[in-house]
Amino acid sequence: MVICNSILDMYLKCGMINEAERLFSEMPARNVISWTVMITGYGKHGLGKEAIRLFDEMQLDSTEPDDVTYLAVLLGCSHSGLVEKGQEYFSRLCSYHGIKARVEHYACMVDLLGRAGRLKEAKNLVDSMPLEANVGIWQTLLSACRVHGDLELGKEVCGILLRLDSENPVNYVMMSNIYADAGYWKECESIRELVKSKKLKKEAGRSWVEIDKEVHFFYGGDDTHPLTEKIHEILKEMERRMKEELGYVYGVKYALHDVEEESKMENLRVHSEKLAIGLALVCGGSEEGRKVIRVFKNLRVCGDCHEFIKGLSKILRVVFVVRDANRFHRFEDGLCSCRDYW
Ligand SMILES: [Zn+2]
Ligand SMILES: [Zn+2]
Repeated sequence: MVICNSILDMYLKCGMINEAERLFSEMPARNVISWTVMITGYGKHGLGKEAIRLFDEMQLDSTEPDDVTYLAVLLGCSHSGLVEKGQEYFSRLCSYHGIKARVEHYACMVDLLGRAGRLKEAKNLVDSMPLEANVGIWQTLLSACRVHGDLELGKEVCGILLRLDSENPVNYVMMSNIYADAGYWKECESIRELVKSKKLKKEAGRSWVEIDKEVHFFYGGDDTHPLTEKIHEILKEMERRMKEELGYVYGVKYALHDVEEESKMENLRVHSEKLAIGLALVCGGSEEGRKVIRVFKNLRVCGDCHEFIKGLSKILRVVFVVRDANRFHRFEDGLCSCRDYW
């Protein structure tokens, strides 16, 4: 069982949901870890309903969920926008004897409410929680403020964050983006200046792809790979086809969805995830019989790359599974499993 659990975990972390499902269904015995690993996997793949089904099923199978299982099912609700279900499980957790809600559970609820635009409720939850809110919770709330354009709450949360965690560039970048979205360029600029003067460095975006048992890494704008020229050629060709066949407009979504990490100055074509996908295509990833291309990224995927990969999945009839910092995106036939909610 221990070995099966590990393999299950590996499949899910590698984005191989079908293989994981098969293994899970064939396991002769399962413990709470097996169920929890599978529920976490469903959640990260945006299959919230499946996560819930399994959570209920495990109890029928007389396996009691523990605090990690609750976290897994809450994450599943959050990634799929299932607010009511998430609230139900959260209140069950809070009234359940034997398990204590941890900061992580609260963070999940803040994410769930925040993504759904229920920012006031999210803030109230943080204010009323019996535990001390950590940096992660405030960052979650701040990023919800960004998504829903709540400048006032954003300023308040940012103030708290800078008191708790003044050396983390992510906090500044998030706030400067909120200002930029609201058209407050002067405030946006002054925060960016502050980051420069403090010499804070953002984590660089990095993606990787496995080709014939070898992993290739790319940074944004990376031109060190020996096949760089071919990669650019194939990406340009894809853009041309997408424009012709789907009317895809290069870069239009980027401004809307720009997630904090990669600077707008960078050329969109050289984002690390595109380079990794380019390499997979150069190496025959779009040929018959190789229907799934898996790419991994350390940060969140940006809006433009997200649109681009959706288009690619349609014109090439290839499934792309992209794991970013938060979750898996499964692109198939022009759509993504996150339903553009990430
Ligand atoms: Zn991008
Ligand atoms: Zn997606």
